[in-house]
Amino acid sequence: MGDELNTTTQEKKKTQLKGMTLDELKNFFTSIGKPRFRGEQIFNWMYNHLVSDYDDMSNVPKVLRNELKEITELKALEYHSSEVSPITGTKKYIFQTPDNLKIESVVIPEDKRTTLCISTQVGCPLDCAFCATGVMGYKRNLTAGEIFDQYLLAAKEYGKDVITNIVYMGMGEPLLNYNNTMKSVRIFAEELTTGISQKKVTISTAGIAPKIRELAESNIKIKLAFSLHSCFEDIRSKIMPINNKYSLKQNIEALKYYAKRTGMRITFEYVMLKGINDRDEDATALIGLCSEMPSKVNIIPFNSLKHIEPTGLAGEIEPTPIQKIDEFVDKLREKNITVMIRDTQGEDIVAACGQLAYKLN
Ligand code: SF4
Repeated sequence: MGDELNTTTQEKKKTQLKGMTLDELKNFFTSIGKPRFRGEQIFNWMYNHLVSDYDDMSNVPKVLRNELKEITELKALEYHSSEVSPITGTKKYIFQTPDNLKIESVVIPEDKRTTLCISTQVGCPLDCAFCATGVMGYKRNLTAGEIFDQYLLAAKEYGKDVITNIVYMGMGEPLLNYNNTMKSVRIFAEELTTGISQKKVTISTAGIAPKIRELAESNIKIKLAFSLHSCFEDIRSKIMPINNKYSLKQNIEALKYYAKRTGMRITFEYVMLKGINDRDEDATALIGLCSEMPSKVNIIPFNSLKHIEPTGLAGEIEPTPIQKIDEFVDKLREKNITVMIRDTQGEDIVAACGQLAYKLN
């Protein structure tokens, strides 16, 4: 019993190194009386060589490795299971957190790139009507280590050179977990990091206006996608309750600020919902909004939520028919707006946009 208690006490004291930036790692080694360059070594092993076992770190002396095993932790997530779409090759991972919660990440192979979609929260508190994650509720923020480990675990299987792009579009609202999300982004942005650079990273937000401004003022330059879905305040509030807190008007001002300060164009995400946002006046309003800032539009066909049997508005939403989507897109293109129509990759394994919802309880 006594031994058990000691072990528990010792485990509690372990410092999680996964998710630390280069500076934090160096500071950690200073704090335990070791040279700062050890931080650089561990950084390289963890993030560049995808190693999470001290015994594989050949340039770290054995005595130090043993010491580190006692006082630190290198694993943030455990692999739980995965599923691959036989149609598109899209792969959905389920990872397990130390407190036994499950999160999902999706690898999306395309012609010239492979994108990894990662989660920032367990569930999501924002309750967007068209999204399974929102309907399933919210548990907690992920740590920076848990966010970054999704990339490391997927890269270990696919190879670092295969995963070319990262999108923070999985479960959760990244800007509601701002500090941990940004810590994970900073690791991509570190000079020492090999593989993906910050230019290949996109954060998607439902619209947390003050945090969009904060992001603009950070020294990190990443792509920003805004989940727009309607240019009308009342409709947007109905399908995205967060609009009642941070209005579209506030968000538009913040997005203009982001575009101006970073020199990057904004991506407007637009999921096509029958009779809700696919009318002529919606196209006209979207054209008007695009003229206000450097931007492009990602049109997303609505993916079924039947797998979670939703009630209320979420249960009533239907997809816009393909022909109508094409007409909508033509209207935008006639006005020289850059428009992409996103493939519904992974719908067969419920890994497509808005479908991620591992049962939280
Ligand atoms: S769309 Fe994004 S912000 Fe909205 S509920 Fe889903 S995960 Fe949350």
